[in-house]
Amino acid sequence: MANEDLVLFEKRGRVAVITINRPDARNAQNGKLIYQLDDAYYRFAQDDDLAVAVLRGEGKSFSAGHDIGKGSDRGVSFPRRSLWWDHSDKQGVDNRFAREQELYLGLTRRWRELPKPTIAMVHGACIAGGLMLAWSCDFVVASPDAFFSDPVVAVGLPGMEYFIHPHIMGSRRAKEFLFTGRRVYADEAKEFGMVNHVYPLDELEERTMELAETIARMPRLGLALAKQAVNRFEDAMGLDIAIDSVFGLHQLGHSHNAETQGNPIHGLNTNAILDVMNGADSSRREQ
Ligand code: ZN
Repeated sequence: MANEDLVLFEKRGRVAVITINRPDARNAQNGKLIYQLDDAYYRFAQDDDLAVAVLRGEGKSFSAGHDIGKGSDRGVSFPRRSLWWDHSDKQGVDNRFAREQELYLGLTRRWRELPKPTIAMVHGACIAGGLMLAWSCDFVVASPDAFFSDPVVAVGLPGMEYFIHPHIMGSRRAKEFLFTGRRVYADEAKEFGMVNHVYPLDELEERTMELAETIARMPRLGLALAKQAVNRFEDAMGLDIAIDSVFGLHQLGHSHNAETQGNPIHGLNTNAILDVMNGADSSRREQ
């Protein structure tokens, strides 16, 4: 295994186990990692022997979000999966909008539409951009130590880029989740309907694999049609257009920070977001 393998791929019978493998940074996502994850999903989709994917994180956490620290490769050009232009040689909104459309919103939507079932198996931290990885899966299972948080209101943003919070947990809970930035642990997240099942940590993998194997016994086309049916139902309720609408507000927040503070992310109150994340995301404290 090469050091640059930020995502690992393993076949266990008809189940693909996809591992986010950047434990030293609590699986914070840079562009390289996100594209490697997309490669893994592509491989899973194309392999006729594989029916279900389980997404997990190596080390102490599922994912601490987008890497905004030293490990960020924000200025790097990667071959893109959408038709958006290369952000890396552009300025301002021309840069930010193209990058976030491609790398965050576009790829997360692409993963949601993967025609085979996916299960996020969450332990430890699942923060901000980490929620994109979990919420774009069909199921979320978690151990009791797993917690979910989107504290980016502290830096003047409405929420992370794939904004489906009210859909996931209802409006009042979504507002509390966002306005306080607090951690919601797995048992409470299950009450919200964000998590399907909570399993003890030492049983998490075995129980998740049992669930995956149960699903894998269904015919491929039936699963694909059922998944499409639920997704189209969500879109008919307004999900897709709401995501685009809030994405504009998210970009407005970035632009305000860039205009007033000279930095699209940290602009308003870096200490506040670091306090909320204290102990959950040490990689971001180093900058
Ligand atoms: Zn953003």
